[in-house]
Amino acid sequence: MNHTRTLYIPFDHLHRDYGIIRDAKKGSDVILFVESERMRTGRNWHPERLFFLISSARHFVKVLQDEGFTVEYLKAPTTKAGILEMQKRHPQSALHATRQSSFRLQTTLEELGAQFVENDFFLTPRALFEEWALRQKNYLMENFYREQRKRLDVLMENGKPVGGAWNFDKENRLPPPKEYRWPEYKGFDRDAIDESVAKELGITANRTWATTRAGALQQLKTFITKHFAQFGPYEDAMALDSWTLHHSVISPYINNGLLHPSEVLDAAVKAFASGKIPIESAEGFVRQVIGWREYINGMYWHLGADYREKNGLHAKRALLPLFTSSEKTEMNCVRSIVHDVEERAWVHHIPRLMVLSNLALITGTNPQQFLEWMRERFIDASEWVMVPNVIGMGVHADGGQMMTKPYAAGGAYISRMSQYCKSCIYDPKLRVGENACPFTTLYWDFLDRNKELFAKNHRMFQQVNGLKRLSDLPELRERAKEVLSGLDKGEI
Ligand code: SF4
Repeated sequence: MNHTRTLYIPFDHLHRDYGIIRDAKKGSDVILFVESERMRTGRNWHPERLFFLISSARHFVKVLQDEGFTVEYLKAPTTKAGILEMQKRHPQSALHATRQSSFRLQTTLEELGAQFVENDFFLTPRALFEEWALRQKNYLMENFYREQRKRLDVLMENGKPVGGAWNFDKENRLPPPKEYRWPEYKGFDRDAIDESVAKELGITANRTWATTRAGALQQLKTFITKHFAQFGPYEDAMALDSWTLHHSVISPYINNGLLHPSEVLDAAVKAFASGKIPIESAEGFVRQVIGWREYINGMYWHLGADYREKNGLHAKRALLPLFTSSEKTEMNCVRSIVHDVEERAWVHHIPRLMVLSNLALITGTNPQQFLEWMRERFIDASEWVMVPNVIGMGVHADGGQMMTKPYAAGGAYISRMSQYCKSCIYDPKLRVGENACPFTTLYWDFLDRNKELFAKNHRMFQQVNGLKRLSDLPELRERAKEVLSGLDKGEI
């Protein structure tokens, strides 16, 4: 059959009702997927991530074929090579796509002459975010979030926020509870497609991640019925006896298209309306979906393609060995968290921000090396997520363009919010001596190293001023050198 349109579908647009595929026509369109060799072997991708992305795409192909569509699933050295191959096979067929989710892929498709429909895998059109960003003096997420609440009419009553406040962060900072039974994470059955992808990748398919829309919907339902009510209070807690806690664990599915954010939002709002969900949990979750996620995507496009190269703190340290092997550290928090990443390619936002990124920040690790590590190791690490999250939020490499102050913290924060410190060889309260917690030592050393720069930042004044109270600063500087050297060798 002569096809007049080729619809290119990347591996993160796997939803039947959104993007270019929504209006696909069975007779005249051919749907193209390209599994590129570069995607599989170009970098040190986490096997779980590869398995999840490829198996989800192949399941989606099956859905489309069962519906009667003509689908081409090409394996090629690069995405570009695959599309060129397709153009050779169907020279009369015009290339169409949804606007892509990264600068690189968007540019590639533009060079290949694609025609685009808007990217509706988010709740905020890019032009609308841009209009917001251009009105801002600084890009406070809270301001964006409040506009989103009003614009989308979510948790609003007569023009005011439900519950009388825009956020319930104070209620949502509880440490993990003692002797608590977290609901068990059941995982997902595997089918022949999963097995064949796992075999090609040389791994054994485990039950951790869903690779179908049915599985993703099941996980959303599990969150709503079993976790949502307690989500808020414990959203920042880090536990040793549960890897999910009360988190939804649906970010991989929203980011690859198996779920659309509007479906997640509708489910959350409906559950809240039933009266069983406290406002602090409802608001905390809605903030993630309509606030943070949309804000980060908007900022990715607003800040431009060069933003990922920023290094405002001139951080030069090579990626620490502990990031590539959890065996290379004695720090209980880092070892446990990196081990969890090795197992499942996922930990929630607080270990990512306040342990892993915090460590990269206060050790002066090169932002681009850390960014590449985060991109490779996390299951949900789309380019648009990781660039602003790491460069702007995690390691403050943009000189404060996105966040007004760095998220630097010592061991006290980790001790308060987790169960790691009790069984650690280091003491979060000590900043000098061989038992001193590396986070505590390096936190003060980081402020000391950057005090002139931060002196101009009124939000950092109190923290930097705290240095004056340290009678042991010379000793601390010496201990910091030992810690950094030990971390470089993988011995701390
Ligand atoms: Fe981590 Fe320091 Fe606590 Fe050890 S004492 S678990 S290194 S925060």
